Amino acid sequence: MVKLRQVMEAINQLAPWDLAETWDNVGLQVGMFDRDLQRILVAVDLNKAVFEEGLQQKVDGFIIHHPLLFKPISAINSNSLIGTQLLNLIRQDCFVIAAHTNIDKAERGINQYLAEQLELTKIEILEPVASELVKIVVFTPEEYLTQVREAMAEAGAGVIGDYHECSFGLKGVGTFIPGANSNPFIGTNNQLEEVAEIRLEMIAPKKNLTAILKAIMVVHPYEEPAIDLYPLLNHDSKHGLGRIGHLVNPMKLTDACKLIKEKLQINELRVAGNPEKMIKKIAICSGSGRSLISNAMRQGADLYLTADLTYHDYTGTDTEGMALVDAGHFSTEKCFIPLMSNYLSDKFKADGVEIIPSTSISTDPYQSLK
Ligand SMILES: [Zn+2]
Repeated sequence: MVKLRQVMEAINQLAPWDLAETWDNVGLQVGMFDRDLQRILVAVDLNKAVFEEGLQQKVDGFIIHHPLLFKPISAINSNSLIGTQLLNLIRQDCFVIAAHTNIDKAERGINQYLAEQLELTKIEILEPVASELVKIVVFTPEEYLTQVREAMAEAGAGVIGDYHECSFGLKGVGTFIPGANSNPFIGTNNQLEEVAEIRLEMIAPKKNLTAILKAIMVVHPYEEPAIDLYPLLNHDSKHGLGRIGHLVNPMKLTDACKLIKEKLQINELRVAGNPEKMIKKIAICSGSGRSLISNAMRQGADLYLTADLTYHDYTGTDTEGMALVDAGHFSTEKCFIPLMSNYLSDKFKADGVEIIPSTSISTDPYQSLK
């Protein structure tokens, strides 16, 4: 039987939890990590209708895009909508997992999915995740080089793209005088010692640093190894918000809007720009992407597709240079459902877990009245 913990780990492989914005709230929001599960409903939001759909489908829980628990709550009671939802979920023994900004930014996440849906080519990340890389420099006696390097790699250092155990070593001479109370591996107390050492350099994600330092201390022969840590400005090019790419066949803005409507299966969208403008390069950001307007413009987009644009976003943008298209929040994020469902089905189908996409109910709160 598959445990909920395994599903959490699988989602972490697709959309690492630590990619989420600091203001966000992702992960297991309701439920027990060690529970067994067989049926999961995937939806953008967990509203009343989706909850009832889940009950009808006899699911063990829900995986949603917009976190159910977002703002702190002080009571779980029937006086509030969220209190009622939590009580119902717990009463029905249903879990809730939210994958939000982590899957927006993931290498194979929502924005990548959207870019591929529009059949863009030469897809790049609009705003790569800021680096959290550090360079670790360790000075080690030559004969311990392999041990130290392997221990560091084992703890998560030295990965560059598809290459592992990447390091650089430089020969030199280290000097030290062991103190009166020290217990030196090499040398004598109170006497200057000169030792042939290697300056070993490896990079690592900052989150692995504690484990790497511990690993060095286990294998390094010195009582007090010399270790330097340098923050890096390199970008992690794998993950990030938004995408930018090219249409295979450049087309007029009106035709590009038709294409967007067709690919996203929507009837309408809001657009600002000259209908005759030729569109080659398209930038996208799922959900509320106002903050990336200037970024998209700087990168030469002819059209920026996002949602939740305001009057002043339109008036404040040179739409002759870059057309703005608002396709609606739900419409740019509903691909979460097939993306997550297909991914988890591939992982767990053989174990008898059924992943059910919530296709019958649109959780878009807005409709257009004509
Ligand atoms: Zn959203």
